[in-house]
Amino acid sequence: MQKKVIVFSQIDADVLATLQAQYHVVVINPKMGDVNEQIRQHVVDADAMIGAGRLLNETNLAPAQKLKIISSVSVGYDNYDVAYLNQKKIWLSNTPHVLTETTADLAFTLLMSAARKVPSLDQWTKQGEWKRTVSGAQFGQEIFGKTLGIVGLGHIGEAIARRGFHGFNMNILYHNRREKLELAQPLNAQYRSLKDLLQQSDFVVVAVDLNAESKALINAEAFDLMQKHAVFVNISRGSVVDEQALIDALQQHKIFAAGLDVYQKEPLQQSPLFDLENVVTLPHIGSATAETRQKMVKLAYQNLVDALEDRVPRYLVNENFSS
Ligand code: NAP
Repeated sequence: MQKKVIVFSQIDADVLATLQAQYHVVVINPKMGDVNEQIRQHVVDADAMIGAGRLLNETNLAPAQKLKIISSVSVGYDNYDVAYLNQKKIWLSNTPHVLTETTADLAFTLLMSAARKVPSLDQWTKQGEWKRTVSGAQFGQEIFGKTLGIVGLGHIGEAIARRGFHGFNMNILYHNRREKLELAQPLNAQYRSLKDLLQQSDFVVVAVDLNAESKALINAEAFDLMQKHAVFVNISRGSVVDEQALIDALQQHKIFAAGLDVYQKEPLQQSPLFDLENVVTLPHIGSATAETRQKMVKLAYQNLVDALEDRVPRYLVNENFSS
């Protein structure tokens, strides 16, 4: 009997066509009604799921009887209840590495845009406000040679640090739960406690994964520790930051500016952030280039096929039930 695959978000058309040629494919469509209800209905006899950006947990997966794998088209996997998947013996895979450089590019885009007020000055120019040479209100923060603090020197954090070190002659500080000497040494990156990093950095970039210890890691106290001219960038997950504390810090000019790609609740529809000039808001586009998204979905496809053909997926993030 043909295996059944649920596609739970939009994916590349070629990969979808390849899946459809191999398996019985059901595509979840938000226009067809409640997404969780659709998943609950179809997951009963599904063998695999592929997609990104949905909360998958007991609420929608409980009816699953033979689900073998959820292949996530993402590196972060905080949307999934891993403990529940382990209990149900459902594999979870992700797509690391292929998005590292693109996401690091985006982090640097945010850093530079926020530091040099790019979006607000773009608007200012287009609105005809450029009537004489610019002055203090239009001035930004210097980047070259400054101190860049990375919270979470992992794959993406290291790629951001590399850009700062080689491209902008920056002094690199980092904070992780454990020192990462092999990543840090080539960049002359110095390990700091979170408190010291926040106090000493001109730019603070957060690149941790969301876990029990990183939830609300950057809170009101953290913003109080940062320098008044500091630029804060978050490309990790919204819940790593206490968003209200960030809004307060921006409103009260406790920091110079922020560049954000991720939020506590996405998509961000209404927010006090929209009224602030000193924040750059992007719609979670860290990995969103055509090339990278294609690499991610191909990797996710391979993880799925491996599982359905009884091989352990290369990028398994939970327990290996086959061993
Ligand atoms: P990674 O290689 O696992 O790096 C994450 C790093 O965070 C690790 O080095 C980890 O080190 C550190 N960390 C975790 N918890 C921490 C804590 N409480 N305090 C300090 N450091 C902590 O992952 P990655 O590939 O770089 O990706 C990082 C995250 O970026 C993903 O999980 C995802 O959420 C996010 N992301 C966002 C986008 C986007 O579109 N904006 C795109 C890709 C990824 P220790 O374990 O030693 O602490």
